[in-house]
Amino acid sequence: MSARILDGKKIAMDIRGEIAARLKRFQEQSGITPCLAAVLVGDDPASHVYVRNKEVACQKAGFESRLYRLDSHTSTEILLQLLDTLNHDPDVHGILVQLPLPKHIDERRVLDRVQPKKDVDAFAPENVGLLSQGRPRFLPCTPHGVMQLLHRCEIPISGKEVVVVGRSDIVGKPLVSLCLQRSGPGGTSNANATVTCCHSQTEDLASMTRRADVLMVAVGQPKSITRDMVKPGAVVIDIGINRVGDHLVGDVDFEAVSQIASAITPVPGGIGPLTIAMLLENTLIAAESAWTTEPSKEGRK
Ligand code: NAP
Repeated sequence: MSARILDGKKIAMDIRGEIAARLKRFQEQSGITPCLAAVLVGDDPASHVYVRNKEVACQKAGFESRLYRLDSHTSTEILLQLLDTLNHDPDVHGILVQLPLPKHIDERRVLDRVQPKKDVDAFAPENVGLLSQGRPRFLPCTPHGVMQLLHRCEIPISGKEVVVVGRSDIVGKPLVSLCLQRSGPGGTSNANATVTCCHSQTEDLASMTRRADVLMVAVGQPKSITRDMVKPGAVVIDIGINRVGDHLVGDVDFEAVSQIASAITPVPGGIGPLTIAMLLENTLIAAESAWTTEPSKEGRK
């Protein structure tokens, strides 16, 4: 068998077209341009690339983007002061703090300081809680990208055995939460899975991953999922992005696994472009929501 390649790049373009149409309607009504503020601390080269990609995406989409670059010696207190300023700035609708932060910074305090209504990464405890209860304000960008890809490729997960490898706050855990909901971004077939979550302490990982009808991998290690770990005919979603020499590769041994999977995401060109599209959507949602709840606009809701 040779797997169907799930083209995240193409789907991300479709979603960005839909966002453009929604942005046009919003701007006609409100005259507002959604603004995303990105905070980047230190010199991590990969973080610089990620933030630059997000800036370019904002510009292409007609959003305003602001980049706050702080040097690697910035203190937690200075970073908190910047976040307070951005939290209170009515022209800023979304705030993202690029991770990882330098080790001396108290990451938890920093992430907790982002105003939940501007928390487009959906890290704030309030937003995590709302997601867990099935009434999300923002869907976390990468897991939302996974659900959109499955929905738009007509791959239902309802009643299926989904195995998520990885339990990070940014990918693994919210992905589990989304798969478990009674209804997803694409309706009931895009939710209602039976979900297992694996991590570094899981005993006999291969016996778990081989159960998966849909295997979702966010480990951060190239080729951590090999052919013998995948059930023939499974759908494989590779979320990993790893630099090997000059190339970007995922967490899955793509060449071998694509021989037995029924469908698989490539890296690059899979989940990565969707993550950025979903970030734009969250920024637009934040701007729409700020506008409709502004006291002087209350009557227009
Ligand atoms: P992370 O915070 O390092 O989490 C990795 C997870 O994998 C942890 O839960 C860890 O378990 C688990 N793990 C590590 N080694 C394992 C092993 N041998 N067997 C089973 N589980 C293992 O990473 P992350 O932020 O979730 O990112 C994961 C990957 O996704 C990275 O390659 C990252 O670049 C990529 N990513 C891509 C996008 C995108 O847009 N496509 C977005 C975000 C991240 P423990 O919890 O026990 O340590």
